[in-house]
Amino acid sequence: MVFRLRYYKDPCLREKCQPVKIINQEVKAFAKELIDTMIAYNGVGLAAPQVGSNQRIFIGALADDEEGEALVTAPKVYINPKITFYSKETVVMEEGCMSYPGLYLEIRRPAFIDIEAYDEDGKFFRLENVGGWFSRNLQHEYDHLDGVLTIDYLGQSKRKNVQAHLDQIDRKYNCPSSVITQPSEVNKYFT
Ligand SMILES: [Zn+2]
Repeated sequence: MVFRLRYYKDPCLREKCQPVKIINQEVKAFAKELIDTMIAYNGVGLAAPQVGSNQRIFIGALADDEEGEALVTAPKVYINPKITFYSKETVVMEEGCMSYPGLYLEIRRPAFIDIEAYDEDGKFFRLENVGGWFSRNLQHEYDHLDGVLTIDYLGQSKRKNVQAHLDQIDRKYNCPSSVITQPSEVNKYFT
């Protein structure tokens, strides 16, 4: 099943998600549907709040090739993730978000992280010193679980500049007559 995506201004994008208590078949099935939705919309990452769920679950599907270019990889499930280390070194990279299609923003974030989480079978894993697009993808999705969006990182004037685009998204996707959108309508996004 493919979930309906939630867009900018939908209150569920601003909720702090709750930890998953037990990783059971239901959770596993939800993670699978989250992956199906991400693929249907050409995304390379998707977090539970983006489909209206407040569970601490996201999908990551981006890595780096040998030249440091973004590389789409097999989707990986992160349940109850914790970023346990952020490097002091930071880097600016361009991010998109499936919750406001078409808006790409340069965001500064730590260059490297350590992250731990559980997979859809309840198996614990830990990734250390993750950099590049891989790291960027995970940090972006992780933010979603705390109700944080890339637009929150913008200074006042930049934030003002993107408001018209955001209002357009709101009008297009959140008005009652257009809540059901077709994947084909949506451009290719980054996350
Ligand atoms: Zn996003």
